Amino acid sequence: MWVNSTPGCGPPRLWTLHSMAGTMAGTDAWSRNPASQVSAHFGIPKNGQARQWVNTHDTAWHAAGANPYAIGIECEGQSGDSLTASQIREIAAILAWSAAEHGIPLQITNNTGGRGLAYHALGGAAWGGHPACPGAPVIAARPAIIESAQGGPTPSAEDDDMQGFLRTGPKALTVISIKGGSAKEIQLIADYTLQGTEAPTLRIAAHSAAAGWGEVTHLTLPANAKARHHFTHGDVNGISIRRAGQGDDAEVGWNLV
Ligand SMILES: [Zn+2]
Repeated sequence: MWVNSTPGCGPPRLWTLHSMAGTMAGTDAWSRNPASQVSAHFGIPKNGQARQWVNTHDTAWHAAGANPYAIGIECEGQSGDSLTASQIREIAAILAWSAAEHGIPLQITNNTGGRGLAYHALGGAAWGGHPACPGAPVIAARPAIIESAQGGPTPSAEDDDMQGFLRTGPKALTVISIKGGSAKEIQLIADYTLQGTEAPTLRIAAHSAAAGWGEVTHLTLPANAKARHHFTHGDVNGISIRRAGQGDDAEVGWNLV
């Protein structure tokens, strides 16, 4: 039996992102306590799997006037914290599932009457008046969440026999979290256009001050096609992408420092 919820719902047309302004453990206890009179549908710890407190076909109590038509997603941390890579992955998985379940479009919305991924402060007083929830970094992470929810091709087996060539490099490299010093978590969103008849393998390496360069992933892309690949890696200050078996001329690199 769900606590702190009202049977039935709007149906939902929004996802509303929140900051817990605290820990997963504290929010979990609060959401299970009938005296608190607050809840959300989901809680997202910084490192770990999402937890569900309320069925998305019922109404949770997280955003006042938005409750009947908004799926509430609480993110562990304080207002001003960036989402971790794990949180973005978990939120994206919830969006991908609930978009299909409730027919909500996988898009951002800044319109309280719209459909898509919104955030608590958007609704002002009508949504309870929480201008600092969830904070600017979480609001800014919404494009990465939507991209991740829309998915992409899964890398196939490695193939070192290189044909074709990389015609356009990665389009976007977004730093989604800066934890201080040289420690960073990144998400790479890359569009590749390839020519040739065989699938080339790209090797993606990351540099950290502590460990130097090391390969973090490799992927085989379909020839004559566009592919999109997401990955996250912590504690990096540089990224390089090169075709397997090719020289440095095939490399695309960034210095994130
Ligand atoms: Zn909130």
